[in-house]
Amino acid sequence: MIDKGIHYKRLRLRIVIMSLCFSLIPLLVLGFTIYTQFSKAYSQKITETLRILVQNRKSALEIFLEERVAQLVTLANTHTLYTLVEEAYLSQVFSTIQSRSKSFIDIGVIDQNGTHLAYVGPHYEKLKGVNYAHEDWFRSVMESGVFISDVFLGFRKIPHFIIAVTRREGSQTWILRATINTEIIDNIVRLGQLGKKGDAFIVNSRNILQTAPRFSGRLLEAPKTPDFSSSVGTTIDTAVLNGVETFFAASQLNNPRWTLVVREDASEEMAPLFEARYWEGIILLAGILCVAVGTIVVTRSMTNELIRVEQEKAKSDDLVMQSSKMAALGKMAAGVAHEINNPLQIISDQAGWMKDLLEEEDISASKNFEEFQECIRKIERHLERCRSITHRLLRFGRRMEPTQDLIDVNEILKETITFLETEARHRDIAIEMHLDEGLPRITSDQAQLQQVFLNIVDNAIDAIGKKGSISIVTEHRNGNSGKIHVEISDTGPGIPKDKMSKIFDPFFTTKSANEGTGLGLSISYSIIEKLGGTITVDSEVGCGSTFKITLPVTGTGRA
Ligand code: ADP
Repeated sequence: MIDKGIHYKRLRLRIVIMSLCFSLIPLLVLGFTIYTQFSKAYSQKITETLRILVQNRKSALEIFLEERVAQLVTLANTHTLYTLVEEAYLSQVFSTIQSRSKSFIDIGVIDQNGTHLAYVGPHYEKLKGVNYAHEDWFRSVMESGVFISDVFLGFRKIPHFIIAVTRREGSQTWILRATINTEIIDNIVRLGQLGKKGDAFIVNSRNILQTAPRFSGRLLEAPKTPDFSSSVGTTIDTAVLNGVETFFAASQLNNPRWTLVVREDASEEMAPLFEARYWEGIILLAGILCVAVGTIVVTRSMTNELIRVEQEKAKSDDLVMQSSKMAALGKMAAGVAHEINNPLQIISDQAGWMKDLLEEEDISASKNFEEFQECIRKIERHLERCRSITHRLLRFGRRMEPTQDLIDVNEILKETITFLETEARHRDIAIEMHLDEGLPRITSDQAQLQQVFLNIVDNAIDAIGKKGSISIVTEHRNGNSGKIHVEISDTGPGIPKDKMSKIFDPFFTTKSANEGTGLGLSISYSIIEKLGGTITVDSEVGCGSTFKITLPVTGTGRA
């Protein structure tokens, strides 16, 4: 029993583990795949958005610078040096340009020797007449024709940058130079500063900030980020900055060699992804929980059903075993009874012969005559007993086909009790009968049923010995198609557990050789089985026993 319990526990565990593996592994793989695909797609979307943003800002910057250069080139090419060095005229032209855009702060004309010939702007005193021949930008513009400087503080100590273009006029070259308001560039870059933690700024080719970032450093200093000044084209990178994962998109301008950098905090950008991960985790956990609970419940009910089926099978196996044992023993009993019957007949004949001899005169005169007579009486009595046993054995062995009478079970019980009443009264045993008056008549074998009831009540009287009671109850359950139940209970000592399984075995008896043969219950079992019923016993030591018989209702009509 313990082994079976462990076996079922192990089976349950195996089924649970296997079911969990087969259902959870695909669930986890699915969850993992969905998450990785989603995060890949999401990261791609973020980097794509960043790329578009940085390229967009860079284009705006380039357009702005190109337009300013184009304005200056057009101005230089449509005017002679002679006209532009006239400061009144230059001022007029400058006002016209400024009316369209406030991006120019001042404008100046410089000859090929670096001398500032004419100037219009707020720093006239400081800049008029200054010589730029030794300035880097002067050399660059003379070489390349167009020059855009980095942002610098200059004489005026405010951040600005210049655009200078050259014009060749006969043998001489002159320069038109304008200062640009950095605020406009700042505004263009600022549009790239997204969210609460996003930032955007420009660095020059030496990684010096050309615009003031939100968080990444101070103007004209190196930024507190990786160096993107030498990146080519547009690049997207991630770096951990102060323990925070950060996206960087960098795009280099054509002229000047500035790099626009857009910076995004990954946690801010990825927040929807993290939220999706959180919900996916919760859904996955709930799914795992559902699968686990479902598996355990299903496995439990499956194994319970298995246990029930196995128990029923064990019961029916017991019944089959008992029936086959009875069949084999029946054959053996019939054989033995036949064998014993012949010597018994001879003993009986010889006893009769001896009885006849005792009637002769000379023997009756013998002083042992009385003793001889007693001996023969004993032989006859025991022969009778042997004969009754062999007849019962033969009946058991033949397993006579039952007759089909329409009988009233209550009547048979009442009749049976009349045989045993005297004996019961003698032993001070009360027999109570609670008979269901609505019991239907059934088609069965009256004589055999009587024998069964007789055996059981007789056993009950023997078990009680003296003083006690026997209760006989009949009942009809579940309508006409149901069964008749007969329960015979006694207040005897009960049957010990170790004997319970043996009492229906032939020749099992706890009575002395004179009192019991051990055939009563086995014959009863065989009869009831033949009649299509069942016989079982409930007993507890010290509390008495109850024999329960069911008989099928196969007849019609009511008692
Ligand atoms: P027998 O009566 O000849 O012993 P049975 O087959 O009728 O043979 O009974 C077998 C045994 O079952 C009895 O010897 C007795 O030990 C036990 N038994 C039967 N009925 C009862 C009962 N009502 N109370 C206690 N034990 C019983």
